Amino acid sequence: MTARVPAQFAGDLNELVSVEKSGSASHPRAHSGFTMTTIAHAQELFRRADAVCFDVDSTVIREEGIDELAKFCGVGDAVTEMTRNAMGGSVSFHTALSERLSIIKCSREQVNKLITDHPPQLTTGIKELVEKLHQRNVKVFLISGGFRCIVEHVASQLNIPLHHVYANRLKFYFNGEYAGFDESQPTAQTGGKGTVIRMLKEQYGFENIVMIGDGATDLEACPPASAFIGFGGNVVRQQVKEKSSWYVTSFGELLKELEKI
Ligand SMILES: [Mg+2]
Repeated sequence: MTARVPAQFAGDLNELVSVEKSGSASHPRAHSGFTMTTIAHAQELFRRADAVCFDVDSTVIREEGIDELAKFCGVGDAVTEMTRNAMGGSVSFHTALSERLSIIKCSREQVNKLITDHPPQLTTGIKELVEKLHQRNVKVFLISGGFRCIVEHVASQLNIPLHHVYANRLKFYFNGEYAGFDESQPTAQTGGKGTVIRMLKEQYGFENIVMIGDGATDLEACPPASAFIGFGGNVVRQQVKEKSSWYVTSFGELLKELEKI
């Protein structure tokens, strides 16, 4: 029996327009046919991905980098509330970023000290998962609405090359004081993660890119991503969970999927 891949997961992956159903997914009477089918397709796309893109905050690392920076600079409460709104998708990403940074106004020295004193904490299982993907010659990218200086530190720990990192750039004056952020980066805009994925497809010729993340901005990147996997291992965002074709709460589930072949 064959099933059509729903448009939002098909992308331009023509060879997967028809996919064999298998196991329990082939019994629509026993399960919700639509949901089970999309889970099976997302799993298939993940196993066959050319590239996997991870969100960073609350996905690859346990915390929200900008909240940690705000706490460190003494304005934690105000900024955490704004981050929650941004993640729920109720304000534009650019506005939320700009407003939060205008409160934080971190110096270069504060950012460096944050990384030294409170290095980002990797989520359990991410190191093993990235290692496995690399072994299979799958390209791994980090696409973050957070800050490059922090995300590069995370990439180094995971052996992800720094040119596979897409994130926002903080700007500083010559004396180290906060001078704004680079507004030309695609990740500074709403829909920016999708823009990066489109660029990656063009640059590397990838046909099947899978996006993994916890937030609304990650979900929005599919399409152009072929599939989206919601990650609830650090925080569960209900609207993302409901809209995810495949939702996992540990990276072990993804590792297990890769071991099937
Ligand atoms: Mg996130």
